[in-house]
Amino acid sequence: MIRVVVSGAAGRMGETVCEAVAGADDLELAGRADPALDAPLGGLLAEADVVVDFTTPEAAPANVRACVEAGTHAVVGTTGFDLDELRATTEAARGDGGANVLVAPNFAIGAVLMMRFAAEAARHMPECEIVELHHERKLDAPSGTARRTAELVREAGGNVHEPIHSVRLPGLVAHQEVLLGGDGQTLSIRHDSLDRTSFMPGVLLAARRVGELEQPFTVGLEAIL
Ligand code: NAP
Repeated sequence: MIRVVVSGAAGRMGETVCEAVAGADDLELAGRADPALDAPLGGLLAEADVVVDFTTPEAAPANVRACVEAGTHAVVGTTGFDLDELRATTEAARGDGGANVLVAPNFAIGAVLMMRFAAEAARHMPECEIVELHHERKLDAPSGTARRTAELVREAGGNVHEPIHSVRLPGLVAHQEVLLGGDGQTLSIRHDSLDRTSFMPGVLLAARRVGELEQPFTVGLEAIL
């Protein structure tokens, strides 16, 4: 059994992750950390092989650093903070502890495929616009998925037009459309997360595999698919 502590356990994603972990035969829900539960992460780290963090851009970097210092693997779904900064601080905090960190801006397999297909398409149709659409309580804009898509498209030689378009409306969950334009034609690649359960297979896979990663700091679910 892999012991999992969920950080941000009282949040929208955290509650769904707790249910998914509790329902998995090979994972044990070892703790729920959240200010709303009066349960700081620090007091639960000794119970965890892996911490899954879905908190806020302000809280996540310190949580990850605490995990790494304690030698506990971290799976991070929180978005909206500087990844390069997190990489540098966690590598400095790691010491000989051997903890791995896996950060994924999107744990839905369909979103990972959307990003891959967009990068592939940009090699042939480089002019690109990204429109991301989320529920109205999302804190960061543009989304972590949109930023990651832009990075992958640019690495493939695409020209992502700025700004990335961010739509916030009640009723939405997490959606993104990548539009590519060429002479007399356009190509649209769209992904829709209609429910937070769309992220759970990816989150559980990450909890199972993060300890096996060869790199201490990994970005993207594609690394373990
Ligand atoms: P949410 O409902 O606001 O939940 C965040 C929870 O974290 C809240 O209960 C919050 O408590 C708690 N929290 C704040 N500081 C904490 C700390 N230091 N330690 C532990 N818990 C803390 O937000 P959400 O919709 O679940 O989204 C959470 C994050 O996941 C966002 O960054 C979002 O963009 C990201 N997300 C990622 C994916 C993906 O696939 N990677 C998918 C969906 C969402 P308080 O309310 O008391 O502050």
